[in-house]
Amino acid sequence: MNRDQVFEFFRRLAEENPSPTTELEYDNAYTLLVAVVLSAQATDAGVNIATKPLFERVKTPEQMVALGEEQLRDAIKTIGLFNTKARNVIALSEDLIRDHQGQVPHTREELEKLPGVGRKTANVVLNTAFSQETFAVDTHIFRVCNRTGLAPGKDVLRVELKLEKAVPQPFRLNAHHWLILHGRYICKARLPECWRCPVIDLCRYKPKTLPPEERAKARSSAARSASRGKSAVRTATARKPRTP
Ligand code: SF4
Repeated sequence: MNRDQVFEFFRRLAEENPSPTTELEYDNAYTLLVAVVLSAQATDAGVNIATKPLFERVKTPEQMVALGEEQLRDAIKTIGLFNTKARNVIALSEDLIRDHQGQVPHTREELEKLPGVGRKTANVVLNTAFSQETFAVDTHIFRVCNRTGLAPGKDVLRVELKLEKAVPQPFRLNAHHWLILHGRYICKARLPECWRCPVIDLCRYKPKTLPPEERAKARSSAARSASRGKSAVRTATARKPRTP
């Protein structure tokens, strides 16, 4: 995509959803950090179910440490990898108390030193809690960037660095939310819903998915042709002269 196309791509996503944000529920930078750590290989909806009662009781690292690993494990046991995640959340809370006066740091370097916090988690926190123009590339963004040609790359870091270069103002702050939501609800992994996609003419993915009714028609016409083919073979076999 050239620069004008990239601008138009985000202009249309912005027009559809002027104020995108994370679907994770949180109260402050700390609970956002915890929610993002818990969301690795889990859905936001699943994390929200577990964190709703948890965040009513726990809003600070001190309260999390006081809760303890065992009770935290019990509170998040519906989330995948909950044992490791509980251990990490307690450890990162202890680090925040010891090294950052109980506050979530504002730099990627400091965030990435916390247990269970990788580049993607740090980028989400920097963007959503501290309004920094970061691009947290998850599986949805990786797919959308490669399919569309917006920022193709073999791994998430290459896609992130390409987005850094390609995304223009005024879209940089919200770009990663638009891309996640686009990937989650329209440009889906198994079957992208191209027929209702606002950027269909800018996207280089081929072939585009047809609307459901056209796919149904194409399927039934293919089934008819296949059955005509079979009966033609049967007729030809029946007419074949027997060898004496
Ligand atoms: S046209 Fe299809 S493949 Fe391209 S972005 Fe839209 S949904 Fe995804």
